[in-house]
Amino acid sequence: MAKIKISAVPSIRRLPSYLHTIRQYQHEGSEFISGTLIAQELNLEPIQVRKDLAITGIIGKPKKGYPLEALIIAIERFLGWDSPQDVVLIGVGNLGTALMGYQEFQFHGLNIMAAFDKNPEKIGTTVHGVTVLDANTMGIQIRNFGVKVAILTVPSTFAQETTDVLVEAGIVGIWNFTNVKLKVPDQVIVQKENLSSGYALLCVTMQANRMDEGNGKNFR
Ligand code: ATP
Repeated sequence: MAKIKISAVPSIRRLPSYLHTIRQYQHEGSEFISGTLIAQELNLEPIQVRKDLAITGIIGKPKKGYPLEALIIAIERFLGWDSPQDVVLIGVGNLGTALMGYQEFQFHGLNIMAAFDKNPEKIGTTVHGVTVLDANTMGIQIRNFGVKVAILTVPSTFAQETTDVLVEAGIVGIWNFTNVKLKVPDQVIVQKENLSSGYALLCVTMQANRMDEGNGKNFR
């Protein structure tokens, strides 16, 4: 399996927020944006922004900064967001439904083209414009669709058995929102999302802030 450099991971994670900021400036009619301005907007160091953007292959012009149009294209191409990606979602519960309704995905080329659930009351219903299909038919339908990427939002207890069916059906990329460390063959890539980790960081930062305030050292 091809591996990305572990040191590139934080940069890749920051690229979507760069894209968001840059698009806002484009809407306002700007043609160029400086690394310093992006850094200010996102509370980062300018050197960090320049390093992050360099991984997309784009180089800023002295004094002017980056041409917005070219920068957007470079980031989208680097992320693979310049071409549409059909995906399926398995488990149309609260989280799955929220993801299906998340409008921002359209800007990433991510298209949830079908969803599967095993609850008879959900099968046949339409959620955010997508029909919920019977999870028992998942394997054959995914093969027929030719889809290669799946979003997994089933309860953790069903995560591995669902994954086995997905892999068998030809899925090679799984965005895993369950708590389970999935066992997959080498050629299958799993990105595990932990929604609690961002909240954990918020809590610890707030605690540290309160301690600083107690010491009269609140810099914010
Ligand atoms: P809800 O209460 O509406 O089911 P939830 O988010 O609390 O929502 P979970 O228990 O997390 O529900 O399950 C998420 C969804 O996954 C549900 O819609 C459930 O019917 C579905 N589900 C459970 N097991 C499977 C499975 N093996 N294959 C496909 N879908 C499944």
